[in-house]
Amino acid sequence: MARILLVEDNATNREMLSRRLTRRGHEVSEAVDGADALRVARDASPDLILMDMSLPIMSGWDATTALKADEATAGIPVIALTAHAMVGDREKALEAGCDEFETKPIAFPQLIDKINSLLGVAPNGSAAG
Ligand code: MN
Repeated sequence: MARILLVEDNATNREMLSRRLTRRGHEVSEAVDGADALRVARDASPDLILMDMSLPIMSGWDATTALKADEATAGIPVIALTAHAMVGDREKALEAGCDEFETKPIAFPQLIDKINSLLGVAPNGSAAG
């Protein structure tokens, strides 16, 4: 079980992903834009953040840069979610400080593997030393 902050402006995508993560036993908090993400990240201090890159008010790129520049949130792993498998997007995400990258439509098992890996959880679900 982890506390996961899901940042996604598309309600359908947000609800679907939130439901699947909750079913996996995770505690999910949500944010709907980049500025909201910064607020919720500070309030909820999640274990991990799933960050849509295309967001209103403040983009996922800018929100991640701000989170990584803030000592209170810098240590939280961020997985970038992007709709475009654009050449260079992965590099751009890592440059913004994202720890991982996943392209939409999301392959859920693959996303879970990345979440577990960043949280130090072994593939069988037990916590790694
Ligand atoms: Mn979006």
